[in-house]
Amino acid sequence: MMTPFGPHTHRGRRPAKSHRVGRALQPDGHMTMTYRAVEAHRCARCRATIAAGSLFSRHAQSGTSLFLGGQTREPVCMTCVPLRLETEEPGGQG
Ligand SMILES: [Zn+2]
Repeated sequence: MMTPFGPHTHRGRRPAKSHRVGRALQPDGHMTMTYRAVEAHRCARCRATIAAGSLFSRHAQSGTSLFLGGQTREPVCMTCVPLRLETEEPGGQG
């Protein structure tokens, strides 16, 4: 039977708004997951636009509503949290 207001059980094909790139080093020395934006995001700290194709990280923001028993992780731009990707481009010297 069909229940139009039933629980959402969408598994599998879900339009991704970002892709994982890899781990990067934060200025404070901690590692964080880096994402590449598929569509534009908004930085949770400075409200700048994170353009599609740009890298960003996600951080728990104070003041965000606790939902589903966990912290909400919001996109934060590279200006607020500069990232240094672990994977280095080959061929560079100096
Ligand atoms: Zn920002």
